[in-house]
Amino acid sequence: MTKPKSPKFFKTTKGKKYPLPVFFPDATQAFIKNIDPVDIKNTHTPGILVNTYHLRQPSFLQVIEQHQSIGNFMSWSGAIISDSGGFQVMSLAKKFGGPKAISDRGVKFKPPNQPTSFFTPQQSIRIQMQLKTDMVVVLDDFTDPQASYQQAKESVRRTILWAKICKKEFDKICQQQKNLPHQTPYLLAVVQGGKYLDLRLECTRQLVKIGFDGLGYGGWPLDEEGNFNLEIAQLIANNAPKNYLLYALGIGKPEDIVACVKLGWHIFDCVIPTRDARHRRLYTFNTPSISKIDINQKDFYSYFVPTKTKHQHNTQPVSQACDCHLCQNYSQAYLHHLFKTGDSSAYRLATIHNLRFYSILMEKLQQLKNDT
Ligand SMILES: [Zn+2]
Repeated sequence: MTKPKSPKFFKTTKGKKYPLPVFFPDATQAFIKNIDPVDIKNTHTPGILVNTYHLRQPSFLQVIEQHQSIGNFMSWSGAIISDSGGFQVMSLAKKFGGPKAISDRGVKFKPPNQPTSFFTPQQSIRIQMQLKTDMVVVLDDFTDPQASYQQAKESVRRTILWAKICKKEFDKICQQQKNLPHQTPYLLAVVQGGKYLDLRLECTRQLVKIGFDGLGYGGWPLDEEGNFNLEIAQLIANNAPKNYLLYALGIGKPEDIVACVKLGWHIFDCVIPTRDARHRRLYTFNTPSISKIDINQKDFYSYFVPTKTKHQHNTQPVSQACDCHLCQNYSQAYLHHLFKTGDSSAYRLATIHNLRFYSILMEKLQQLKNDT
């Protein structure tokens, strides 16, 4: 028997291949604030994540159908992954729904200023298949880090039940659409079990038995102190089949990405680079050129806040180790001026820069994987 091979590429349903690992910024409602898809493409970002909860309205899905896919609608030719919508729905259910809001059938939730709705595992899959994304994520039942063993165990039971329901719905739609294997999106399940390693292991094993293209690490991957829980990431990576894609949902701190890639994780998404850009926090590598970046160094990057007085007269770019639109064309002083006067181009340039920082980071990690 030949050993299964680790995935080397993220393949889209249109036949494009992107080397792993990849980072996909969050384009929650089919856009990233302050920039357009051409800007995103120019940062060498291979793909984006869209949010099923925000795009679930039937009137919006009709518009997508007219365009045939969310990619066509955005005029975005890179990869697109969708989440299950579960995080928002479950958060609302836990906040407003009372103890019976979450059942094995689905989740009863009340969006702000809207009537109560019911969201099912089947619906999550149907919406994602209508959006025609390249990776579909199954609905899971998550717990917070303070959850008791019993609560975490119950979330694992329901996560596995919903994973089976989602897989059935996914297979049914693929058959209806007569998708050839290469046109079929990846289907990924999310491992739950809170901070309890035996539950995370059991959940991993049960999900693998059902059969998916990959596993996600989700449900507050932080410990009770708010630090990223690497022990669980390692446990899942060690127990997933070799050919599985491993997706760390919402993980985006550069040091956490580096640590996860070293354990075998492939896909990351996060709001950090774009949200931080809007809060005037830019990421810069601590070195004078792209070729000298060493992500094995502990402090390989810093924050750059362009509103300090010292930047007002600085003629240098924000980073010498960056080839983005901002760093190639403008000085620190000009960016300082744009922020000071409140011009919207400041936010656009900062977002472009941070996305390029992340795509360079991933390029370095791809090289690291090739060298090992
Ligand atoms: Zn730059």
